[in-house]
Amino acid sequence: MPTTTPANKIKIGWFSFSCCEDNTVVMTEVMNDHWEEWKQIFDFRHVRVLKSKNIMDSFDIAFIEGAMAGPEQEEQVTKIRGISKKLVAVGACAITGLPSGQRNNFSEEQKASIDFLVTRFGGLPSVKKVSDVVKVDVEIPGCPMDPKVFLEKVNGLVAELRAV
Ligand code: SF4
Repeated sequence: MPTTTPANKIKIGWFSFSCCEDNTVVMTEVMNDHWEEWKQIFDFRHVRVLKSKNIMDSFDIAFIEGAMAGPEQEEQVTKIRGISKKLVAVGACAITGLPSGQRNNFSEEQKASIDFLVTRFGGLPSVKKVSDVVKVDVEIPGCPMDPKVFLEKVNGLVAELRAV
């Protein structure tokens, strides 16, 4: 597999954190209709749902779904931010932290009853949305994301990156 990207291709990363990964399903459904066009313009550099050998070097657009529930996720998204021109938060979990972070809204009694689990799995004291950790350039809301808005935002980013 080549590790270099043709100059005319836009490098894509797609990453899933704490969530149900429904945005990934939506993305692959949209891809069914746009594969011929996308394979001409995108280098799917790190998209685990599409391939097993992924490259983590730099991205033109990095899509992030899911909330940040543990410190290793904070580290990972910070690393991704550092190697990406544009970072896109996809879906409610990434943008608001919910519903994945519903433990944030538990009563004190409920929180006390799950403390041992948070500790056992090395969780953060509270679950964070992506923008709590890194700068987000574009948001695609919904639970899961709206396919039409996804396409609009993708096309807008492609036009923006091509204009540079
Ligand atoms: S926003 Fe909704 S659909 Fe998307 S990952 Fe979270 S729970 Fe799943």
